[in-house]
Amino acid sequence: MAPTEAPPPLEGKKRRIAILTSGGDAPGMNGAVRAVVRQSIASGCESYVVYEGYEGLVQGGDMIKEMQWDDVRGYLSEGGTLIGTARCLSFRERPGRLQAAKNMVLKGIDALVICGGDGSLTGADTLRAEWPGLMDELVQKNELSADQVKPFRHLNIVGLVGSIDNDMSSTDATIGCYTSLHRICEAVDAIEATAYSHQRAFVIKVMGRHCGWLALMASVATGADFCLIPEMPPKEDWKTEICDIVSKHRKMGKRKTIVIVAEGAHDCHLEPISVSAVDKLLKEKLGLDSKVTELGHVQRGGSACAYDRMLSTLQGVEAVQAVLDATPDIPSPVIAIVENKIVRKPLLEAVKLTQDVTKAIEAKKFEEAVEGRDAEFREYMNAFNITTSLEQPDLILPTEKRMRIGIMHVGAPAGGMNPATRAAVAYCLARGHTPIGLYNGFTGLCRHHDDKPLGSVRELKWLEADSWASLGGSDIGTNRHLPSEDYEATAACFEKYKLDALFFVGGFEAFHAVSQLRVARKDYPAFKIPMTVIPATVSNNVPGTEYSLGSDTALNQLINFSDTCRQSSSSSRRCVFVIETQGGHCSYMATIGGLAVGAVAVYTAEEGIDIKTLAHDIDSLRKTFAEDRGQARAGKTILVNEKASEIYTAERIAKIINAEAKDRFEAKSAIPGHFLQGTAPSPMDRVRAVRFGVRSLQHLESFAGKSKDDIAADPMSTAVIGIIGAKVQFTPMEKVETEDTDWKKRRPINEFWMALKPIVDTLSGRPPMESAGGKKS
Ligand code: ADP
Repeated sequence: MAPTEAPPPLEGKKRRIAILTSGGDAPGMNGAVRAVVRQSIASGCESYVVYEGYEGLVQGGDMIKEMQWDDVRGYLSEGGTLIGTARCLSFRERPGRLQAAKNMVLKGIDALVICGGDGSLTGADTLRAEWPGLMDELVQKNELSADQVKPFRHLNIVGLVGSIDNDMSSTDATIGCYTSLHRICEAVDAIEATAYSHQRAFVIKVMGRHCGWLALMASVATGADFCLIPEMPPKEDWKTEICDIVSKHRKMGKRKTIVIVAEGAHDCHLEPISVSAVDKLLKEKLGLDSKVTELGHVQRGGSACAYDRMLSTLQGVEAVQAVLDATPDIPSPVIAIVENKIVRKPLLEAVKLTQDVTKAIEAKKFEEAVEGRDAEFREYMNAFNITTSLEQPDLILPTEKRMRIGIMHVGAPAGGMNPATRAAVAYCLARGHTPIGLYNGFTGLCRHHDDKPLGSVRELKWLEADSWASLGGSDIGTNRHLPSEDYEATAACFEKYKLDALFFVGGFEAFHAVSQLRVARKDYPAFKIPMTVIPATVSNNVPGTEYSLGSDTALNQLINFSDTCRQSSSSSRRCVFVIETQGGHCSYMATIGGLAVGAVAVYTAEEGIDIKTLAHDIDSLRKTFAEDRGQARAGKTILVNEKASEIYTAERIAKIINAEAKDRFEAKSAIPGHFLQGTAPSPMDRVRAVRFGVRSLQHLESFAGKSKDDIAADPMSTAVIGIIGAKVQFTPMEKVETEDTDWKKRRPINEFWMALKPIVDTLSGRPPMESAGGKKS
């Protein structure tokens, strides 16, 4: 039989890049497909999708389809995977892979991006390893000619990890896991309300056969009483352990009990622990009115959260870059994320490390299993234990090391302020410190009575703080006032309440406040105490970190708002929504929001807006709507930072577009305003709040017993905690203030996300404009 026609490879380094989604579906897979398709096309490559995972590769023909730019329109906000996924038995066997290889050559495909779990990625690497042999076999069997296979001697494989379980080692987050966590937290929040009303216990089963990430994070985020995960089973006598903690919490006045159980939970002998066993225990031993809830497939997610949209987009872009960089001697990479940094790691190693965790669990080497997960896992586990199981005698510090720690919120409210404070209070109590709430910021502290500073100051109790795990805003009150308004009274209050350390949560003002206190130490010895700032602001404009608590909540609010506008504009046809975002002079929200919603243009305060840029964008909209390959119903979004221009506000931009569109299309403006602060904080803001809270307390603790002058001499005694690249770290205020703070614009000098702006433009198809943007104002 004569071999079928196969196209020759593209010229130079250009590739035909195919993407498939495989294994369990996960939210964000569509974002990855969109990014890979569009970035491939933007890089001059041809783009293909394979329908139904490896099944499509084995079947070939129409199951492998070339994609055009517009084919992936609207993908970002869709849940699941629109190109389908399937478990494919035949791909597990060599004959199946032989057929797949033939089909790929027939389409001229020389690079494959796979978005799936460790099984899918193992299959991909097997295909790559066997590839030269498969080519030989196809020629031998006369399925393809030697000439046909000659240009395809090497196959490029790149992995993207799509899985709700977050079970892949080497990456902090898999595409989909945070959306799943959103669904779980929403469900637990709802269950908590009824649990509280009836004083009930709920035993909640969440997904995760081999991996406890979802269960652990949901427990941290919702402040559950107990959590059962496969990596670290409870002690031998787990029944007593659960009963002790639950009854202790009840004795302290808690009206509800939540136990979260991962699907694969077991005891230390690997005997499964079922939700019904825990339910029975709570009923029979503690006499609680207990109910079981299995969350089931709602956890698969639906529409992706902001983080998954961002992650899948950035990783998709990186995957295409990795394909273009590939050489036969570079091992296949998997695209990972470590804290805030997208990185490439060897795919096989990542798969092996993941399999090692499963093996460690099977061998009852639980410490090893925890170690094998990403760096955060142990930290979250410890944070959960320390913030829920009070009275751990081994944690209590000797009297001389115990501190009175003032806790204050400064600035506008942001998601995560309360959960960070809850973690701080629980940590303080577990260690023997006294947590002292400084209510209503510096104005609250400096209230006077009979000319004496009175101070809204109160010791915080575990029970009230415990209810803050999922609460938005700031329960102890926050405002923008600074200590400079009354240094005297501030210092007097610090002394009056014998504060040994200060724990601040807040935005730029919190940062500014600590800066002022640090500088004023020379005049006020009361300020010579250790202080930390946990950045918390929707604007994400605090220097010293790439991420502030509350910014993820705000992004999620923004995508919900924008998705709603988009649906409306899509229904009314040929419509553009111009949405204003908060952020002051920092356009993080507009830019990353733009990435997450696929905005056709993002106007930033850093770059400003000029008439040429506007004209250019309106021109591009005119062309888009004129072509009308379905664009009329696309629904377009433009995001404008609130300080991008005094002249061209969102409202005016919409008016200008309308004037120029001459009824061929239409623009509307919308301002979400304080809606962006959200109600309940997002799961990411909650878990990171706990992590930052515990870390900050540990940092403050390290100064216990030191003299005031020794403290003042140590630059780390005033520090901001943050995520910088691949690290969570404290940076001395003095350094951040001088090296990375634009005081006038109230934002960091180095805004890492500015580098991502071109990606927003590329993926939304915004035509390049020589003089548009690029400069910081
Ligand atoms: P996940 O990717 O989510 O771990 P699976 O383990 O079910 O999901 O794998 C998805 C698909 O990947 C399988 O149906 C099969 O086609 C392919 N696959 C999995 N493991 C292998 C393997 N060891 N060799 C070849 N193909 C595999």
